[in-house]
Amino acid sequence: MILDHLFDRNVAWAQGKTRDDPTYFVRMAEQQSPDYLWIGCADSRVTANDVLGLDPGSVFVQRNIANMVHTSDMNLLAVLEFALEALKVQHIIVCGHYGCGGVRRALGNDRTALVDHWLQPLVMFHRKHQAVFAALKDDQARLDRLCELNVQMQLRRVAATPIVEAAWARGQPLHVHGWIYGVEDGLIREVEPPIASQAARDGLPSIDQCAVTPSEPWSAVRHQAFAAFAADDAQADPCCEGARR
Ligand SMILES: [Zn+2]
Repeated sequence: MILDHLFDRNVAWAQGKTRDDPTYFVRMAEQQSPDYLWIGCADSRVTANDVLGLDPGSVFVQRNIANMVHTSDMNLLAVLEFALEALKVQHIIVCGHYGCGGVRRALGNDRTALVDHWLQPLVMFHRKHQAVFAALKDDQARLDRLCELNVQMQLRRVAATPIVEAAWARGQPLHVHGWIYGVEDGLIREVEPPIASQAARDGLPSIDQCAVTPSEPWSAVRHQAFAAFAADDAQADPCCEGARR
């Protein structure tokens, strides 16, 4: 058989899973009840379950090039509707990643492939704010910044869909998150705080404002380090504790 080695790996994987956890496939065979919808990049290095350390049944996943949200994308809309109306997920996670090839393409000048149609909103956004990007120190900084802004843009787009608005209108608990993943260190960073209502979405700065006001993504590791630093510092000089926060 062609790709015999993959079938062999599959058998070894299934046997290993069963050996480590005899109930694993029994649990997987039950109806899925994920709490999270992940909208991520198709990049082969960014797999939702792996980076979150969760079983496959825990995350409903939609991936495409550069984790874009197009309101004409029937695939994404059908996934979104099913996730909110049938699965009742409580968290939508838009997760981009640093070093994204799709975002890099949007920064360039080649416009000859279908993917350039797909990336058009990002291309136009970059063009509109070209002066902001030109002022950054180098190409790496420009790519990092557009990867982060792309998350903020797609977060706003998914939060503006009638499907999400309808969930909020019927009182369904739902947070929309904007995260970015570091391929080089395996850490997820929060690009901006989650939003949990239509009013909160309407109160967000516009994506154009975001372009000129950089966010500072924070990983849990950095939060922990900061908390430890603040605790040490407060011990040495308790009067500073409030200021640190
Ligand atoms: Zn990507």
